[in-house]
Amino acid sequence: SLRLEAVTVRFGDRTALDAVDLDVAEHEIVCVLGPSGSGKSTLLRAVAGLREPDAGRVLLDGRDQRGVAPHRRGVGLMFQDHQLFPTRDVGGNVAFGPRMRGTPREEAEKRVAELLDLVGLPGAQRRPVTALSGGEQQRVALARALAPRPRLLMLDEPLGQLDRSLRERLVVELRQLFRSLGTTVLAVTHDQGEAFALADRVVVMDRGRIAQTGSPVEVWLRPASEFVARFLGFTN
Ligand code: ATP
Ligand code: MG
Repeated sequence: SLRLEAVTVRFGDRTALDAVDLDVAEHEIVCVLGPSGSGKSTLLRAVAGLREPDAGRVLLDGRDQRGVAPHRRGVGLMFQDHQLFPTRDVGGNVAFGPRMRGTPREEAEKRVAELLDLVGLPGAQRRPVTALSGGEQQRVALARALAPRPRLLMLDEPLGQLDRSLRERLVVELRQLFRSLGTTVLAVTHDQGEAFALADRVVVMDRGRIAQTGSPVEVWLRPASEFVARFLGFTN
């Protein structure tokens, strides 16, 4: 499980996260929504250890993560500007995490094949990643983030470059996959439809604070403020 206690991150005199409290339960799928600049990516970076908070604490399974290096936190990350390894083929990219963790080759290959099927790239193991389109690379990055089966998976606009029909199909499949693996997920998206289809709970951010959190239906039916209502597209 994940807990943020009064997490504050500043960039100069700009407060990107302002004393944010958040709990994500084991196996829960939480989607973070909010306008550009509201602090969504900063939240993920603070949890991942790419940016230590200026104040407050990040706890994973009850343990304070201050000073714990990103690769030792057991979290998976996928950013929109994913970096695939250009010298490895698709299979090599996806298998990288599990092989590093000592997963036997056969099991890793089976997992790679399952994940490539899931993201709509069946049989793409031997293709060079440099020969893939942006959307295809994004799907490989998603498969790579899932491959080590992290205790917490964080996704920042994971489906951003994909076309709508593929996104709609993937969101449903992703939810099923996360459920069956029991993965705890914290995902950022601009797309409300995507958040509502994927999440057990949504978090709406406004200028570094949490404006509302609740189930998609709760937030949709009872926006807690004018800001949330506007953000969801209600006109009055
Ligand atoms: P978007 O939807 O555009 O990705 P976001 O909600 O992810 O936005 P953040 O990237 O978390 O927003 O940024 C929150 C605030 O912190 C913004 O005002 C941004 O300009 C500022 N910020 C983020 N990263 C840095 C940085 N490295 N240096 C200075 N300011 C930053
Ligand atoms: Mg962002």
